[in-house]
Amino acid sequence: MSNLLRDRRTAAEWASVRQVIEIAEKIGSFEQLSSIIEADLAALEADRIPPDWRDSVVAGRLAFGFADARANVPAVECGLAVTVDAVCQRCLQAFRLELATEAKLLLLDLEETADGYDEYEVWELEENALRPQDIVEELLIMAMPFAAMHVDSAACKALSAEADDNDEMTKPFAALRAQMTQD
Ligand SMILES: [Zn+2]
Repeated sequence: MSNLLRDRRTAAEWASVRQVIEIAEKIGSFEQLSSIIEADLAALEADRIPPDWRDSVVAGRLAFGFADARANVPAVECGLAVTVDAVCQRCLQAFRLELATEAKLLLLDLEETADGYDEYEVWELEENALRPQDIVEELLIMAMPFAAMHVDSAACKALSAEADDNDEMTKPFAALRAQMTQD
């Protein structure tokens, strides 16, 4: 079976058949995204790099259609999620980072504009044909945080060490924050 993600068709072609693509693709098949993750993991000692990081599965859905009733403005609705391996910038340990993103995109030719579609973002088509994989990859790259960090502070070695050392120092801030949220 051919993989629709890698087919090239015009935006109008994808939209006119209301193409829906269910996605279950390994990270390893997204070249740019993989190289970003690989560069990030390179901060770790070689034996600390999770060996199967390329196997994390990108799950989600693209649904092509038109943004307008007259079927003039091709669009796509995207929902994507993946858990990638990343390096925490605070404690420099590997951890699993959940990425999730949703977007509604107008598929417009370069310098083309369309007014009145505020809930959409514009995706500029650099060529006639569009490869769904490129949209998925760019959305995920944009969803990557500038500096990845443990969300759960208990899991972050830098934070748990700080908490032990600076217990007295952090308390006033906690009290202040509690006060501010009350106001
Ligand atoms: Zn951390």
